[in-house]
Amino acid sequence: MHVLVINCGSSSIKAEVVDADTGAAAAGLLAERVGTDGVEVTGTVAIPALPAGADHAAVLAAVLPALLAAAPGVGAVGHRVVHGGGRFTEPTHIDDDVVAGIEAVSPLAPLHNPPNLAGIRAARAILPDLPHVAVFDTAFHATLPRRARHYALPAELADRHGVRRYGFHGTSHAYVARRAAAWLGEDPRALRIITCHLGNGASVCAVEYGRSVETSMGMTPLEGLVMGTRSGDLDPGALLALMRAEGLDVDAADRLLNKQSGLLGLSGVSHDLRDIEARAAEGDERCRLAIQVYAHRVRRYIGAYAAVMGGVDAIVFTAGIGENSALMRDRIAQRMEWLGAHLDPDANRALRLTDDAPVAALSAAHSRVRLLAVRTDEQHEIARQAAAVVGTGSAAPAPAAAETPTIPIAISARHVHLTQEAVEALFGPGHTLTPRNPLSQPGQFACEETLTVHGPKRSIERVRVLGPVRPACQVEVSRTDEFFLGIDAPVRMSGNVANSPGCVLEGPAGRLTLEEGLICAWRHIHMTPADAELFGVAHGDVVEVAVDSAGRDLVFGDVVVRVKDSYALEMHVDTDEANAAELQDLQPGMLVPTQGRARVLRRQRGISG
Ligand code: AMP
Repeated sequence: MHVLVINCGSSSIKAEVVDADTGAAAAGLLAERVGTDGVEVTGTVAIPALPAGADHAAVLAAVLPALLAAAPGVGAVGHRVVHGGGRFTEPTHIDDDVVAGIEAVSPLAPLHNPPNLAGIRAARAILPDLPHVAVFDTAFHATLPRRARHYALPAELADRHGVRRYGFHGTSHAYVARRAAAWLGEDPRALRIITCHLGNGASVCAVEYGRSVETSMGMTPLEGLVMGTRSGDLDPGALLALMRAEGLDVDAADRLLNKQSGLLGLSGVSHDLRDIEARAAEGDERCRLAIQVYAHRVRRYIGAYAAVMGGVDAIVFTAGIGENSALMRDRIAQRMEWLGAHLDPDANRALRLTDDAPVAALSAAHSRVRLLAVRTDEQHEIARQAAAVVGTGSAAPAPAAAETPTIPIAISARHVHLTQEAVEALFGPGHTLTPRNPLSQPGQFACEETLTVHGPKRSIERVRVLGPVRPACQVEVSRTDEFFLGIDAPVRMSGNVANSPGCVLEGPAGRLTLEEGLICAWRHIHMTPADAELFGVAHGDVVEVAVDSAGRDLVFGDVVVRVKDSYALEMHVDTDEANAAELQDLQPGMLVPTQGRARVLRRQRGISG
């Protein structure tokens, strides 16, 4: 399917007809100096001369019919929108309400969203019969955890003005992470990737198992790396000091940080790294320093993001500098051996990305962390996402966080499962268990009967028996119970008691010595095959479940999935875990979508499906 991709900047319009599957451009035009007397259009299609001062609407009115005539078969229009605010967390079919919504978040991106909106309005009027889809630069970062989203500002003030970290360049980070994973022959959901989008604007993103969990741009595209003309990170106190010392007003401070800083400010020569590299080679000290500061900042973020993800499998360089500057890649990748990332300097120097080879490695063969350069293609990603929204593309967008179903987490107290023989030994001949109340798993019940469990050190009284009877006895206790009893029990799936320690059970009719059967239950989720399909997991997968407990983000790792037709969806943790996490019974948990990784863990642990 062909998608018309429209990207309207303040004074430019890029319009391209792109194959959503391959990314090939069938036709394209670039209009520059839009709104001035010198508006210029270049590209693959001839268009009639434009009147002086033609604005976005006038340029699109002239350009779009010509483009569609040159490249027929367009089934959707994809619009790049820079800021989706807190509302737009996925590509969105545009209607009047969505236009109003984009307008409502525009104060967050006053330079970018208004031209994006002008393009949307004009294109909808010119092409009313085609579906229009907004693809947001911020959407990929909607998965940032709360700890990465918040600035340490007074909470109510920040909320009132939407002051939080949103992140940008999302289409590029998503695209290159996916391309890198495909090149490595891995599922993106099994990899931790640091993507470095180093263009005129620049940002780094930590893509953990397919989701953005940290990124260097924040509420605006000013935070983070050194950019062409933007300062990136700066002590806010330095800005206040400069405003006072120089008598700068807000607009002057805005110009200083956005237009006069970055590589341009540091070098005093140019915002373009090519010019700076040339001057540095001639011995210009300021240009040398600009390169050092730039590389140092990127390296610092890479180290930080490896720490954020607890490791990294691949580091990807992309955009103008990342794809083309061997010198900058080399400087950034220095001294990364501690991380397991070894640069191959020859491969880096020789690296040239082409249409036929848009991905290449610059790491040494023995490098555990792969270093890659990937040609970004935001137009292709916008086309792919737009096609997915209108339902004919090959790749569906990730479900919105709000739509992801939750899993109730039940707190499982210590308990005993018995055989019929054990029931009779402990409660008397011919005794059968007396149901007290049903449990969430169909057919299971808590019994009136309780027992004393004796360990080498101490005993625990009134331990509840669960029914119905089973083929083998099993005592499930928490770690604290183990210490109390004086027994070191393994963490096991229920039913797997081979070679576990035993204990002595005491009931009203007698004592019973178990040779084995005492375990600490492995955190687990019960679910039906339909649930498993919905969550994209399989029996035996080891997953992570996030909870928001007592205001703290918390993730339970090492949770095993158990799938059976008769199960009801529920996760079970023991009392120790619930207490440590301050959980309420049946508090909802969210499966962290790491399906690919779950399979990897399952393989590593040798669990059969
Ligand atoms: P982008 O915003 O992705 O188009 O990146 C544009 C920037 O990439 C330019 O301003 C340059 O700083 C940089 N760039 C492009 N080509 C090269 C190159 N061959 N060597 C160094 N920097 C480059």
